[in-house]
Amino acid sequence: MGQIDGFKKFDRALPSTREVAERLKDYQELYEEFPVEKTTQQAARCMDCGVPFCHSGCPLGNVIPEFNEAVYRNDWKEAYQILDSTNNFPEFTGRICPAPCEAACVLGINEKAVAIEHIEKSIIEKAYENGWVKPNQTNKQTGKKVAVIGSGPAGLATADELNKAGIEVHVYERKDRVGGLLRYGIPDFKLAKTVIDRRIDIMKLSGIHFHTNANIGENMSVQSILIDSDAVVMAGGSTIPRDLKIPGRELAGVDFAMDFLEASNRSVAGENLSSPIQVTGKNVIVIGGGDTGADCVGTSNRQGAKSVTQIELMTKPPKERDENSPWPKWPMILRTSTSHKEGCEREWSIQTKGFIGNDKRELIGLQVVEVEWKKDASTGKMVMTEIEGTEKTLPCEQVFLAIGFLHPKHAGLLKELGVELDRFGNVATTDYQTSANKIFAAGDMRMGQSLVVNAIAEGRNSAAAVCAFLGLSGQSGLDL
Ligand SMILES: Cc1cc2nc3c(=O)[nH]c(=O)nc-3n(C[C@H](O)[C@H](O)[C@H](O)COP(=O)(O)OP(=O)(O)OC[C@H]3O[C@@H](n4cnc5c(N)ncnc54)[C@H](O)[C@@H]3O)c2cc1C
Ligand code: SF4
Repeated sequence: MGQIDGFKKFDRALPSTREVAERLKDYQELYEEFPVEKTTQQAARCMDCGVPFCHSGCPLGNVIPEFNEAVYRNDWKEAYQILDSTNNFPEFTGRICPAPCEAACVLGINEKAVAIEHIEKSIIEKAYENGWVKPNQTNKQTGKKVAVIGSGPAGLATADELNKAGIEVHVYERKDRVGGLLRYGIPDFKLAKTVIDRRIDIMKLSGIHFHTNANIGENMSVQSILIDSDAVVMAGGSTIPRDLKIPGRELAGVDFAMDFLEASNRSVAGENLSSPIQVTGKNVIVIGGGDTGADCVGTSNRQGAKSVTQIELMTKPPKERDENSPWPKWPMILRTSTSHKEGCEREWSIQTKGFIGNDKRELIGLQVVEVEWKKDASTGKMVMTEIEGTEKTLPCEQVFLAIGFLHPKHAGLLKELGVELDRFGNVATTDYQTSANKIFAAGDMRMGQSLVVNAIAEGRNSAAAVCAFLGLSGQSGLDL
């Protein structure tokens, strides 16, 4: 433990964000510099608990009190080595993780939790600054070869672990650049794309081969990669968006969130797109209250939307934990992201009834009604009813559907392989192995829409399962 009374002496503090008016002019990351000594003070708040609940809160099992202590001692190299032992990409989680570790932090029972995510980001940035993040130099050669399909965080973590185990790794990505949703979903103001490129450069120098524009099951058959691979790991994500099949869905101006976000990310990256969705001067409504919805809010404001409203079917959550989500459970509380703070009306308990168009079939309004949720006495389930007389039309020229993803695409790759699916339409596995011989699955494609930290954990676990399958137990970076 760094400082025995650190949690009493120092309040939780985080870097400040750039002024809203200034940051809306660009897509750069939001946080300002934070003096090193302030970060070491934050690390001093860690109580080095006998039972560190932060460990179990983190899907990667990050060894948090130990790296906090190293940061407190200003031994950043040791802190980096501890962090790197469990997390392949702290530069991603340190920026965009909702930090389940902080929700489980013991200090959070009656004080503000330790600023674990900020400390994590500080450690990895120090490591890059000092040249400690190096290509894999283990020089292990097992003579095995594995193909990874998909280059989101799950595919990248799988590839990184397999490479460390001495396996020749080929990553196939259908898009023109690697990164999955890190690159084409999440906007630059949350995660600058240079942060992804920096990591990919290290992975390439480690000997990992990346093949882009390789859409397996579409422009390249899976058999062509199976034939000379000892195993294949599919990490293609959960890509089929949930639709809203209500009257007027076909109108111009009703789009899936991902179509907007991908077009925007590409345009920020300097690519020329013939028809990016632009919301400048428009009244925008985002349907869906999650991360994807918040990213549409931030992007719409940067494009100069006239107004931005986000609506959600569920009731407004409480500001603080209540009896439904006691510590150390993940709290169902109101989350206000940096994008919300940039200007956005938020409404809860709103059901969408239909889209209204003009005679050119362009969107001019959204018909909604308020709803109430009550527990059904016999089933115990929450039941929704529309409140009579609350119907209204919200004027808008653009709606984004950000209501989640159903499952991975079945046509192409999954159909060609004929792998079994679970009841949700995701790839069914036993210890990451699918019903097809030597084919594994990981990430959102296997578990459904989730989080970057879970995708990294999936990548690590699937790599360990592949090593065990290939008789290489103990050779990956993981304990098998
Ligand atoms: C807009 C948005 C914002 C988000 N924000 C956050 C956030 O702030 N924090 C957080 O923790 N999580 C966030 N998430 C969730 C997170 O991004 C995902 O859980 C995570 O990226 C899943 O990783 P993955 O590797 O399984 O899949 P993906 O990241 O979806 O990567 C899959 C890759 O596989 C490729 N692929 C698919 N099929 C094939 C094929 N047949 N051949 C070749 N390549 C193929 C795809 O093109 C893609 O590049 C967000 C999600 C979205 C949509
Ligand atoms: S639970 Fe919080 S205070 Fe306890 S060891 Fe983990 S980070 Fe430190």
